[in-house]
Amino acid sequence: MSRSSQKRSSRVFDLPIHRCSRWIFNCYVIEGDDNQTVIIDPGLPSTAALSIDLITRLGRSSTELHSMATHGHSDHVGGLPMMRQRLGSATHLPGLCESYLQGTKPRAFGSDAALRFLPIFGQQPFSGTALREFVGGSTKIGFGGQAEQFQFPYEPTGFLQDGDRVPGGKEWEVIASPGHADEAVSYFHADSGTLLSGDAVVTLDGEAWFNPEWVDETACRQTEERLRSLDVNYLLPGHGLPIWGNPWKQAKSFKDQPQGRGGLARCSRRFGGWDSL
Ligand SMILES: [Zn+2]
Repeated sequence: MSRSSQKRSSRVFDLPIHRCSRWIFNCYVIEGDDNQTVIIDPGLPSTAALSIDLITRLGRSSTELHSMATHGHSDHVGGLPMMRQRLGSATHLPGLCESYLQGTKPRAFGSDAALRFLPIFGQQPFSGTALREFVGGSTKIGFGGQAEQFQFPYEPTGFLQDGDRVPGGKEWEVIASPGHADEAVSYFHADSGTLLSGDAVVTLDGEAWFNPEWVDETACRQTEERLRSLDVNYLLPGHGLPIWGNPWKQAKSFKDQPQGRGGLARCSRRFGGWDSL
């Protein structure tokens, strides 16, 4: 295993959670109950591969593994088949994905929303592999971009509903978090105050930001209210670096636009730091 591969996987604060990341795409590996392992958002094939390396390094590859996604966008579900094929992991999708599999068309946000998200792309070292997987993924699995129908190559093990306990990590609760996507869920661990938010909340330069990309403004407002009511110490976002403590309390609303941050200019400045593979 290469050093750079290890560098892209790191323990999150002092929690029994690891982040496997390429560019802005985060996958989290949780050391769960009774020697079980929970993998959340192995979204790109390369982040799934990083999480498999990590799980092997931790000696957990023969534990009971549960992989799941926070929502159906391709950059969150794209590595689930690899987790299943290579580790025999179970696959859990948010509840609404069941109706997508039966033909209901998921709602996708427009390019105006994607533009508001642009600053996020500029904050971590760029990876060409991640970009290729991100751009190409929606034609193969999940939905997003031009792909309007939810695609998934096999029948998932199960579907997660609001209030469910996470398979393999019963101290984690599933919290419905619609707005960015109708089916979106977050995962919350009350004892430690850890919120694994998917794309409901992202971070930008150490600040939390309720995601300005949405399909449903009312749902976004309600999700923001609900998540703000939780006692969060650690925020582990789908995109951006994890944060802890005060920044959560000062989280920007989904209606806020970061000030003075021209998205493209910012991206091009930041692309000085390249992730080499
Ligand atoms: Zn998303």
